[in-house]
Formats: sequence, structure tokens, C-alpha cells
Amino acid sequence: MAVRDQWVIEPDTYGETRIGGIKAYCNFDFLVPLDGRVHIIDWKAGKQDERKYGRQLLAYATGAAGIYGVGPEQIEAVVAYVLPRYTEQRLNLDDADIAGFTETVRRETQEMRALCSDVENNLPEAKEEFPMTEYRGLCGYCVFRELCGR
Ligand code: SF4
Repeated sequence: MAVRDQWVIEPDTYGETRIGGIKAYCNFDFLVPLDGRVHIIDWKAGKQDERKYGRQLLAYATGAAGIYGVGPEQIEAVVAYVLPRYTEQRLNLDDADIAGFTETVRRETQEMRALCSDVENNLPEAKEEFPMTEYRGLCGYCVFRELCGR
């Protein structure tokens, strides 16, 4: 297969993959396998947020490690902020990062499944099973307010 045919550039798919055997979605902006390395670039036009986008990039890198069967040292992962001035945020990955993120996916998936009445069809428990928070200050920012009724 030609190198260019392996490029992934803003695909029309949801990027379904598996992380630690669990279904996950890695919708790469730009991914190029080249000379035994996998290059991932995630473009951002807005405000810089190292924590948020670093975590997103770690998710992509973990997904790519599984898809391409490569170790962290073979992955070049970059968040590229194009505005107002081009800046890069690079991930320095090691095995513990990949293992840690895989474990996070496993744990968070288990927590979500515990709140489902039907895991197979992703149906949640009845609304009454979810206690409302005591910290009412949070409700003002909550996107589920309408559904919740508070
Ligand atoms: S409005 Fe949101 S944060 Fe507040 S109780 Fe309802 S679901 Fe929880």
C-alpha cells in the first residue's frame, strides 16, 4: 500500500476503535504512519488548554498504539494551535501513560455501565435512581438541568 494511502485526514467516520478491548472513538484530525513511527497532529484554532487537549491527545495516542501495534516511543503526538500564533504542545509518552489511560477507560466504562439498566443497548437506570447534588451552585452550569427538572 502506498504511504499516502495510509494517511488519515479528517475522516468522515467516528473513528471507532478499541482501547483495552473497550469500544472507543478516536477521530483523528491528521495521522500519518511513516518509517515505523506514527505522527498525530490535532489542530486547534481556539484558546490553548494544555490539560484538556493533552488528555485528548493521550487518548488518540493510546488508540493509535493499539491500531498500529506501536510503542509510545514510536508515536509523535502534537496539538498544533494555529491561532493567534502557531504553537505546538507535544506529548512525551511512555508505557505508563498508555497503561494509565487504558486503565482510565476501563474504570470509567465500568462506572458508566453500573448506571445502566441495559448495558447492551446503553439504556440508563430510571431518573429517580440518580440523586440530585447538594451543591446547588453547580446546577446553574449544568447542561442536564432541563432533563433534571431542578
Ligand atoms: S441540574 Fe444538573 S447538577 Fe443540578 S441536580 Fe440536576 S443534574 Fe445535578
